[in-house]
Amino acid sequence: MKTMQANVVTPDGSVYNGQVEMVSAKTTEGELGILPGHLPLVTPLDVGAVRLKHDSKIQLIAVSGGFMEVRPDEVNVLAESAELPSDIDVARARAAKERAERRLEQAKKDNIDFKRAEMALKRAINRLDVANK
Ligand code: ATP
Repeated sequence: MKTMQANVVTPDGSVYNGQVEMVSAKTTEGELGILPGHLPLVTPLDVGAVRLKHDSKIQLIAVSGGFMEVRPDEVNVLAESAELPSDIDVARARAAKERAERRLEQAKKDNIDFKRAEMALKRAINRLDVANK
């Protein structure tokens, strides 16, 4: 089976690098699956799980936005934050989720605090999803 190099990096350093058979990621336009030989592209990422298929196993990574750069033999995910399931602190994500939910109840729908709380809630739910899969 054909493979390509996949790298996931954050401002804190590398989270993953290795040969993979497929990458799928949540872009701002929707879910996008990449196979080796894909045409070059750069796309912004949403908060979501990046899936890396290797030896028929799927490695999940929780990513909080950033960019994905695709070349025929390489995919680079440049993420604002990225965690492997084993690195996710579930208690911290649960606390962040509850904090964000409280703030959403208090904040008015159109203000900056509401948007911030919405994004924080998305990150927390994504981490809990990835940690539980
Ligand atoms: P919190 O309110 O708990 O800080 P957050 O969504 O605001 O959550 P981020 O700003 O996205 O956090 O991330 C800051 C740093 O903390 C990043 O390096 C990220 O990987 C790490 N991080 C955040 N939440 C968790 C978690 N639940 N488990 C492991 N690492 C986390």
